[in-house]
Amino acid sequence: MHKKQILIAETVENQISPSYKELLGFGASLHPDGENKILLIIPGQNVEKLAEQIAIENNIHTLAIEHEDLRYPNPHLLQKILPEVIRKYMPSYICMMHNVRTCQIAASLSIQIDAPCITGVESYEIQKEKSVFTRMMFNGKLIGKTACKTDQVILTIIPGAFSGSFTPDHTIQHGKTEIIKINETASEYKPVRIIETISKDNRLEEADVVVSAGMGIEKEERIDLIRKIASIFSNAAIGGSRIVCDHGWLPYACQIGETGKQVSPKLYFACGISGTMQHTAGMKKSGCIVAINKDPNAPIFSIADYGVVEDLQSFLPILAARYDDRKKNP
Ligand SMILES: Cc1cc2nc3c(=O)[nH]c(=O)nc-3n(C[C@H](O)[C@H](O)[C@H](O)COP(=O)(O)OP(=O)(O)OC[C@H]3O[C@@H](n4cnc5c(N)ncnc54)[C@H](O)[C@@H]3O)c2cc1C
Repeated sequence: MHKKQILIAETVENQISPSYKELLGFGASLHPDGENKILLIIPGQNVEKLAEQIAIENNIHTLAIEHEDLRYPNPHLLQKILPEVIRKYMPSYICMMHNVRTCQIAASLSIQIDAPCITGVESYEIQKEKSVFTRMMFNGKLIGKTACKTDQVILTIIPGAFSGSFTPDHTIQHGKTEIIKINETASEYKPVRIIETISKDNRLEEADVVVSAGMGIEKEERIDLIRKIASIFSNAAIGGSRIVCDHGWLPYACQIGETGKQVSPKLYFACGISGTMQHTAGMKKSGCIVAINKDPNAPIFSIADYGVVEDLQSFLPILAARYDDRKKNP
């Protein structure tokens, strides 16, 4: 038995987001015993060649959706175009990587094609031939498991939650590419560029050590404490949770997580961070995670290698002082 799947990738200036490999890995794992019929949709501007190349490399069927307003991710336009493609292909699963844009697409498709949508999928298991999807709820305080009775389901997948390994199956027919050029569909929303604040001295993705601040720091001034810890290490950078960046205590270029940067340093300090899936999606691949949190039940401790149940205001100064002592008396 085979099941059809539509996987929807993202492109920026005709470059595909590398997370499409995670989507492929997830899609292939959904039905390991049968033949997976995967259609990878690549929306963008001038993405025909890219779609052909990916079809050949992965031996899958790709569909390039071309529109001048798809140069940058454009959920408004895609939610108008995709229902027709889905109705034509009739997939069992429609999957996207989880972010603010795909959540909008998923919700809109759910209404238009009358299929349930499960956002933020972190894992799944097969129970009585039904896929049961797991997601965090209430900022990671509850875990929800959902199985669908319907023939179709729309899923958004948490980045980093699945291995991303995908082995092309060369025993089946070679991948092919279809191109849809959309001209007539108008978009009232046209993204024109992506603005990123680049902090030259804080190269998060290249740092060996990342020291991150969460709302547990309580005040902007306590960022100095985070800087002090980062200064202990030679190749360190400062990160933060989204709420810390929303407060303007750190620039958005420092935000780590699902809608921020993805980092995997050798050492990650989570200081006063609760550990919601949106944050951990951006740092759980770190080599060693040290969490400092005064709540022993904080979800961050479930992925930490070392957990310090302590008020960071007392712990971090002691850590910094111990380091200074060691430097003076090695
Ligand atoms: C679509 C979407 C996308 C999102 N994307 C991201 C993202 O990319 N990155 C991200 O981080 N979040 C993201 N979020 C927000 C996310 O859900 C959480 O709200 C956020 O990560 C929580 O930040 P926090 O851990 O700093 O704060 P909180 O959840 O408020 O946690 C603060 C923690 O500090 C501890 N604490 C308090 N005082 C102290 C103290 N003195 N000493 C030690 N510990 C203390 C508390 O016990 C608590 O665990 C997203 C949310 C949505 C809906």
